[in-house]
Amino acid sequence: MNNQHYDLIVIGGGSGGLAVAKKASEFGKRVAIVEGARMGGTCVNNGCVPKKVMWYAANLAHAADDADAFGIPVFRAATDWQKLVAGREAYIARINQSWIRQITNHGITHIAGYARFNGNRSIEVEGVTYTADHIVIATGGKPIVPPVPGAELGITSDGFFALQEQPKRVAVIGGGYIGVELSGVLRSLGSEVTIVALENRVLEVFDTMISDVLTEEMQKQGIEQRMGFQVAGLAKTDNGIAINSANGKQISGFDTVIWAVGRAANTRELNLEAAGVEVLKNGIIPVDGYQNTNVPGIYAIGDITGKTPLTPVAIAAGRRLAERVFGNKPDSRVYYQNIPSVVFAHPPVGTVGMTEAMAREHYGEEVTVYETRFTPMRYALSEHKVGTAMKLVCAGSEEKIVGIHIIGDNADEMLQGFAVAVKMGATKADFDNTIAIHPTSAEEMVTMKTPVRRETQEWKMAS
Ligand SMILES: Cc1cc2nc3c(=O)[nH]c(=O)nc-3n(C[C@H](O)[C@H](O)[C@H](O)COP(=O)(O)OP(=O)(O)OC[C@H]3O[C@@H](n4cnc5c(N)ncnc54)[C@H](O)[C@@H]3O)c2cc1C
Repeated sequence: MNNQHYDLIVIGGGSGGLAVAKKASEFGKRVAIVEGARMGGTCVNNGCVPKKVMWYAANLAHAADDADAFGIPVFRAATDWQKLVAGREAYIARINQSWIRQITNHGITHIAGYARFNGNRSIEVEGVTYTADHIVIATGGKPIVPPVPGAELGITSDGFFALQEQPKRVAVIGGGYIGVELSGVLRSLGSEVTIVALENRVLEVFDTMISDVLTEEMQKQGIEQRMGFQVAGLAKTDNGIAINSANGKQISGFDTVIWAVGRAANTRELNLEAAGVEVLKNGIIPVDGYQNTNVPGIYAIGDITGKTPLTPVAIAAGRRLAERVFGNKPDSRVYYQNIPSVVFAHPPVGTVGMTEAMAREHYGEEVTVYETRFTPMRYALSEHKVGTAMKLVCAGSEEKIVGIHIIGDNADEMLQGFAVAVKMGATKADFDNTIAIHPTSAEEMVTMKTPVRRETQEWKMAS
């Protein structure tokens, strides 16, 4: 057998690729992983990890602002951006090295470079051909820069993480989760921020309660919102970068513009035709419920499949695929329902299951909704207050909880346990029967009493 033949070749050393490679090697398989950039993929290098470090910095800035009211005088000078970025990058470098060590310890071969298919279950990297019984495509995605005039004047989330100086006047184009996260961080650290989006509200696909409360909180923070604005191009002016709309409007005065308008699948360079792998026009590789592509022995996992683009989803898909193919667990697969997710906005958002609108669409009149809004005790002494809102969406006469939506401090940490309850089929009565933890915000989750009454007309409009 040729020395460049493996049981498994994984293309892409990100969340999904590393997970499947490690698991397969634990089953004693000969595994290679191809990665052209730093090990760890988007999450480690340009996503979750650097984003969360910036979010922590932003939270500390808020805490410093509020400390005086609690008798702790704090003088907050301008953010030392370079120190923050240097610390963050050193942390990421340690994670990169840890991945290299883990790969080595698992006996996985690292092929440095970018892979292209040159046949069925055969790839080429830097002029060398490698073959395998099984190939997993886990090449993730990259930020979209729309083809409009002057687009190159803007940066993307990758560019945001490369900034060596804090921008003063920033426009973030895009009202999805990356757009609101970057806006929140920049504003908290002292930049002037305008969020510009085609949609009429931020986080449009989330429950309306979430986008309503986030809109209010962003206003309170001084983030300008230009919604329903269709960006037609960027231009350089004497007053910095200007953003032009399709109907002749202009907003200007920015030193930095960030495109946060979605991500495109990394399939173009893969030469998938050589292997006969089906790919959609938008670059997504369609898979069945077991991550199989249309070609036997070739699989796809993670963002490239267009399914719930989150790190833990890519990891779960990778591990379960390895268990199925190499670990004698033929039913091992990911179920893509009730996946909890968090938006690290200010304040954070946690959500699992159906929005109220989705549940009403699905269950009709059988839906009961409980909702609460309050100011957490954390703000009892400070002038600056950040609200919290929670919603339980229940279905049927037994009031099974089919959706939970939280916006407010600690929503990010609160949600995981509640997601277990939803996964187990908890009902409102189970929540009611759980003793509250006092004094916390989370206790409100088990003490909501009166359902919200909504006229049919009202919820139809909300959706
Ligand atoms: C700003 C931002 C914030 C995010 N925050 C979160 C968060 O808080 N929580 C969360 O769960 N998710 C978050 N995500 C999403 C998360 O990063 C992705 O869902 C996850 O990284 C997907 O993993 P993956 O394995 O599919 O691909 P990736 O992690 O993107 O890995 C793909 C790898 O493939 C490599 N590659 C591409 N083409 C080739 C080739 N031809 N040959 C070899 N290698 C190749 C790339 O260099 C890359 O390293 C965030 C993403 C962004 C952009």
